[in-house]
Order: sequence, then C-alpha cells, then structure tokens
Amino acid sequence: MRNFVDLHTHSSVSDGDRSPAEVVRLAEARRLAAVALTDHDTTAGLAEAAAAAEPLAVRFVPGVEISAKTRRGMLHVVGLGIDPARRGLQAVLRRVSDARRRRNPKMIAKLRALGVDISLAELRDFAGGSESVGRLHMARLLCRKGHAASTADAFKRYLGVGGPAYVDKERLESADAIAAIHAAGGLAVLAHPVHLECANAAQLERIVRSFRHHGLDAIEVYHSDHTPAQTRLVLDLARRLGLMVSGGSDFHGGGKPGVGVGSPRTPRAAVEQLLAALGP
Ligand code: AMP
Ligand code: ZN
Ligand code: FE
Ligand code: FE
Repeated sequence: MRNFVDLHTHSSVSDGDRSPAEVVRLAEARRLAAVALTDHDTTAGLAEAAAAAEPLAVRFVPGVEISAKTRRGMLHVVGLGIDPARRGLQAVLRRVSDARRRRNPKMIAKLRALGVDISLAELRDFAGGSESVGRLHMARLLCRKGHAASTADAFKRYLGVGGPAYVDKERLESADAIAAIHAAGGLAVLAHPVHLECANAAQLERIVRSFRHHGLDAIEVYHSDHTPAQTRLVLDLARRLGLMVSGGSDFHGGGKPGVGVGSPRTPRAAVEQLLAALGP
C-alpha cells in the first residue's frame, strides 16, 4: 500500500534541476501513490513525465503552477489534472511567460549596477532548456560565481521581494488563473498559503474566502515551508471552508536544499477527495 503523495514538484523545464522523467522516477523510488509535475507557467514537461510514469506504479497527475496576484500581493495557483492541449490555457501561459521574459533583463541590469558581473546570455545558458527562466536560476548562478553563499543568501541579499535587484513581473489576476485552470479541465489549488504573509489567521481566512468565491477548489495544507502549526491552521481552514486538501514538497532539486520528492510527507488519506475529483 502506498500511503503518501507529492502534488507539487518542479523540473528543469522550469527552475528545478532534474528532468521531468527523473522527478517521476524519484517519486516511484519513494513509493509514492501519486506525483504531480507543477512547473512554473509551463506545461512543456508533462508529456515526458507522463511517458516516464506509464510503466510505473506511481500515478502521474499533470499540473502547472501559475504566478498571479491579488489586492494583497502575489500568489501561486497550482492547477492539477489539466489538459495541456487546451488552447485557452496555453494563451494564458504565454502571457505569463512573456511577462517573465520581460523581467529578466531588468533584473540583470540591476545586478550589474550593483557590481555583479552577470549577463542575460549567461543566465539563459545556465538555465539550459528551461521554459521559465527566473529568480531561482539567478540565485544558483550567483552562488556558482561566488556572489552568494546559498540560494537563500542570494534571495536575502539581492533577489527577494523588495531586494536591491528585485523587479516584479506583470501578473494575472488570481480569478483569471483559476478560470484558466478550470477551462483546461483542472482543479485550482492555492499553493503554500503561508507565502501570502497574512498578519493573522482572520486575514488569511478572508483572502481564502475570496479565492473560494472565484472558484478555488483546494488549498495546500502540506508544504515544505509550512511549520506543523501552520499545517494544522490551514487544515482547519480547509475543513471549515469546505475546500479540498492538497500538498506537496515544492521540490526543486539542489535549488531548495533539504526538500526531496515526497518530503514533507503528504498523506494519501488527506488528499483522497482531491484524487477522486481528478478522476480514475
Ligand atoms: P520567479 O517566479 O522567477 O519570481 O521565482 C520564484 C521562485 O524562486 C520560487 O518559486 C522559488 O522557487 C524561488 N524562491 C523564491 N524565494 C526564495 C527564497 N527566499 N529562497 C529560495 N528560493 C526562493
Ligand atoms: Zn520555483
Ligand atoms: Fe510557488
Ligand atoms: Fe512551486
């Protein structure tokens, strides 16, 4: 019996460092019941991951993680069970990716003004085949070039929100991200709610209620950035608001040290309703 799942992972098609097939094989090696690939703003890795999962016992769930915004700031919406062939979804992802591509040269210019010797060509080269080049690639490159001690240090010193090299990207409204996921046949999940940085539980509840009003289906209770207390708080919120429970590691490989596929553990029993809603 396989008792755990991981419904939030990244591959080298966005800003992880393992191929889509490798992510699936890691999930199989952990004997997970299900794994979703949820690369940032792209579905380009899903076919490879699905093919890798075909002969294995692990169930593959096609996903995506879309960068969006609300009145209060930014958020990530994970789509699970999406059909990447839907044109509407691809049109939305193209908009988000274009915004991402417009941001990179601006951040590189800021880094250069800060005395960091880095170029856009170098970043693209470093990111290899990524469809979603972004801040984690910059962080890893800064480490390699000796400008930061770790990716966390690179975010703290340069790349984090409000940091000296930070530039925001144009973002979708959260309601539009949810609608795009639904139009592609998927379920919309609020990713890592702690990143909303709400002042208190009441504020978190208000904002999650507004997402539910826009059709949010589920919320990530289990996530590598959640403390046990936060996990309990979000689980209680999900139950009270009638949202389904999801969870995953947010695996990125070496870019997020200490976070492996399947860790922290998301119990299959907790996400059974979501898996059932995703179909057979
Ligand atoms: P972007 O979408 O290009 O703005 O990059 C956001 C990604 O950077 C997130 O999904 C994480 O993978 C990573 N990230 C953001 N903040 C941090 C942090 N403080 N430490 C390490 N990685 C981070
Ligand atoms: Zn990422
Ligand atoms: Fe995220
Ligand atoms: Fe993620």
